[in-house]
Amino acid sequence: MKTKILLKEEDMPTHWYNVMADMPNPPAPPLGPDGKPVGPEALAAIFPPALIEQEMSAERWIPIPEDIRDVLRLWRPSPLYRAHRLEQALNTPAKIFYKNEAVSPAGSHKPNTAVAQAYYNREAGIKRLTTETGAGQWGCSLALAGQLFGLEVRVFMVKVSYHQKPYRRSMMQTWGANVFASPSEITNSGRTILARDPESDGSLGIAISEAVEEAAGREDTNYALGSVLNHVLLHQTIIGEEAKKQLEMVGEYPDMVFAPCGGGSNFGGIAFPFFADKAAGKEIALVAVEPTSCPTLTKGVYAYDFGDAIGLTPLLKMYTLGHDFMPPGIHAGGLRYHGDSALVSQLHYEGLVDALAVPQIETFEAGVLFARNEGIVPAPESTHAIAAVVREAKRCAETGEPKTLLFNLSGHGHFDMASYDRFFAGELRDYDYPDEAIQESLKHLPKVKFDMG
Ligand SMILES: *Cc1c(COP(=O)(O)O)cnc(C)c1O
Repeated sequence: MKTKILLKEEDMPTHWYNVMADMPNPPAPPLGPDGKPVGPEALAAIFPPALIEQEMSAERWIPIPEDIRDVLRLWRPSPLYRAHRLEQALNTPAKIFYKNEAVSPAGSHKPNTAVAQAYYNREAGIKRLTTETGAGQWGCSLALAGQLFGLEVRVFMVKVSYHQKPYRRSMMQTWGANVFASPSEITNSGRTILARDPESDGSLGIAISEAVEEAAGREDTNYALGSVLNHVLLHQTIIGEEAKKQLEMVGEYPDMVFAPCGGGSNFGGIAFPFFADKAAGKEIALVAVEPTSCPTLTKGVYAYDFGDAIGLTPLLKMYTLGHDFMPPGIHAGGLRYHGDSALVSQLHYEGLVDALAVPQIETFEAGVLFARNEGIVPAPESTHAIAAVVREAKRCAETGEPKTLLFNLSGHGHFDMASYDRFFAGELRDYDYPDEAIQESLKHLPKVKFDMG
């Protein structure tokens, strides 16, 4: 019985898969403040030309430059596992496979795009990158990538995380990044917030404003985003391409593919290469799994909204809970985003991608069950996919269906043990975001006249 299904380094994919080529309708364009689609020029102040081109490209296959593949080979191809022990524990006829993205140096899938973004910025002559980070997964990934490509990386880390997750901060510093608690005194945005509230804990929205302000203000500096944008999802498709080859090696094809969904990048990464088959008529379910406390795809509306809390970004057509939605303090920091990728959103709206919300306690129960059978302690974000798979595997146990289930283990939970402690102490609560609160924040959606006709 095979447990790990491994590809050789030579078998690592040479191209990313661009889902835009197979979508039944063209993606809704991002809009500027005037309600008109934004052109490439509007993005040029903070992104390099190659990434802007990828953001808009409809080419099905986009080559992965050799310099990027060289770095990815430090941990890729990542292993595909058959979860034999979890299957036994659930007494299910279902076959459960998972792609282990926790094997990257930063511990998640995020370096897959960080490496690509650092490379294209270096090629464009950029010397410095700025970004924001919440729990620290993305900041670590960009710090690592910047180090490997000789770029200075400046990370604005949400102040409360800066103090609560000191080891994520040390990790970024080990990889040579400068880390600032946000709001900081070094940007106008930071100073404005601090003048109003010197005790501000910060937020992702504020940290984005600081990082974008620095990038927009200097020729030698660009900004990098860890999820949501089309080019980020593109870079993550290497996950699903590898998984497809690995399943082929053991003569399998999934009935269902699951991934946790925050901004949609690891979900798009594992699911989109299978979407190509779905678009060609194959029956397969692609399931994005989110927290009931931040139910973007399951309870949000499909509308144009800002990507950040303050309203600096272009408007994106996506499922949103409203840009000023304040998610409760749930323990899967990476899933606490008010919106979602425009590509994932549109495919969900068109009924081609499914979504499921699971409550927090069920996700930790699934995470502990997984750790006790498969060994790996999963990130709280990843436990959302595990919980959904556990539900499906139990259903298979009742019906006797031998379904093949695939999920993405997006990261390990080694820096999240305080959250596991709280779960064991019985301190975690389930939180359904109340419908009235969602309705309230949806009242603040920007008014947009644009109609794709
Ligand atoms: C950031 C993160 C996520 C959520 O982000 P997506 O862009 O939706 O993939 C999920 N899992 C882990 C481990 C993360 O670090």
